Amino acid sequence: MTSALPFTPERPLRVAVIGSGPSGIFATEALLKQQDVPVEVDVFDRLPTPYGLVRYGVAPDHLTIKSVTRGFEKTLSDPRVRFLGNVEFGTDLTYEEAKAHYDALVYTVGASSDRRLGIPGEHLQGSMSATEFVAWYNGHPDAATREIVLHATGVAVIGVGNVALDVSRILVKTVDELRESDIATHALGALEQSHVKDVWVLGRRGPLQAKFTTKELREFGELSGADPVVRAEEIAVTAAEEARVTDNVVKKNLEVLRDFAGRTPEGKDRRIHLRFLVSPVEILDDGQGHVGGLKVEKNRLDEQGNAVGTGEYEVLPVQMVLRSVGYKGVALPGVPFDERQGVIPNVEGRVAGRVGEYTAGWIKRGPSGVIGTNRKDAVDTVSHLLEDANTGRLPLAPQPARAAVDALLREKGVDVYTFHDWQVLDAHELAQGQAQGRPRAKVVHRHEMLQHRRTATQETEG
Ligand code: NAP
Repeated sequence: MTSALPFTPERPLRVAVIGSGPSGIFATEALLKQQDVPVEVDVFDRLPTPYGLVRYGVAPDHLTIKSVTRGFEKTLSDPRVRFLGNVEFGTDLTYEEAKAHYDALVYTVGASSDRRLGIPGEHLQGSMSATEFVAWYNGHPDAATREIVLHATGVAVIGVGNVALDVSRILVKTVDELRESDIATHALGALEQSHVKDVWVLGRRGPLQAKFTTKELREFGELSGADPVVRAEEIAVTAAEEARVTDNVVKKNLEVLRDFAGRTPEGKDRRIHLRFLVSPVEILDDGQGHVGGLKVEKNRLDEQGNAVGTGEYEVLPVQMVLRSVGYKGVALPGVPFDERQGVIPNVEGRVAGRVGEYTAGWIKRGPSGVIGTNRKDAVDTVSHLLEDANTGRLPLAPQPARAAVDALLREKGVDVYTFHDWQVLDAHELAQGQAQGRPRAKVVHRHEMLQHRRTATQETEG
């Protein structure tokens, strides 16, 4: 059945946004900003807490990036919006149930998995994805119980994107520097005991092909406990190659790398080696199932700028390997998925082969761009959703009331975490942080979040 009439304040357009990370909130904001279609939005998240990547992906020492949440709070506080945390799409709310209660679904679940290298030794103890490591130090509930002991003195980080720089920086920062961040308390404790001395960040291609941005690269020159080390021969580019560079970020990156290459190390306790034209070929076993080294092959670039092995090898003395070669989307039950690309197949945000279903952010286009990139992406998707709403192309939900969703979730025993619950937890985390002289002390376990709400409610009632 399709809608013949526009939506009204009495029967607003009902939208479910699945995933409360940046793209989900930007999509919600875009729905609120327009005046043509009266709208109600329910934003779901499988975690009790909102903001996805901002809380669990952005580096804990990049607090200014996290200030984007002030705008997110405004969006989630709008009376037309509800946040329903701790609700897993596919089980707590199935695809069929969502279709019965909402006129439109917007999938904004990001890219929570990672890509593998496909080299021998990836299974060894001490080899893991940057995604797992980031989740651990950011206190993601799914990674909170993971024991990461930093007995490695050498760590290799594969890839030269911003995530690689994030994890490397966290590994070489001093405890005093880390205290200024909102890093999870368990990770702060482990990093305090860390033996790390050398971190190698490995790019398979040259400095002109690196994906990181200059601001992030510069931070390596400003660390109190680590020297940046760059080999001049690995960042050498010909005048002709340099003349062809049009991207300002690439030009500035090269300037910073040259500055690092020209520095004499100050003899700080730790070193961060930015290496280029090397590919990992095997993670070596120390004989006990643990990482004992990383064999890399030196590369040259072909005419197209692809890495080609030279047959010359080197072994790096590392006991930990973090692969930081890109995130990957995960399929949602009942929703089309392109396994190869790790995205929901779509045409400009309209899910392929479906009506009333949309997608935005990393699960729409893959894991690229900064947080702000997702605003335009979400606005584009929402413009198509609204076009469909205005032209009667949305299937009308048979049970469009908020109360009907609430009743369904109650019946299924789902313990919904509301935006108010989050605000109480947020205030608690900030207060706990302040007491420790830190910006925030995160509550990491799901059961602690739910328990905190019970305690806070009892205190209010008592
Ligand atoms: P990314 O920027 O796509 O970088 C992935 C890196 O992995 C590239 O250097 C790539 O090299 C390398 N790589 C891929 N496969 C490889 C292999 N088999 N062997 C060796 N190297 C390999 O991904 P990301 O770092 O995960 O970042 C994801 C997005 O989040 C990016 O848009 C990033 O800018 C953004 N982000 C931003 C910030 C910030 O603004 N501060 C922080 C974190 C993340 P090739 O180029 O040769 O493929």
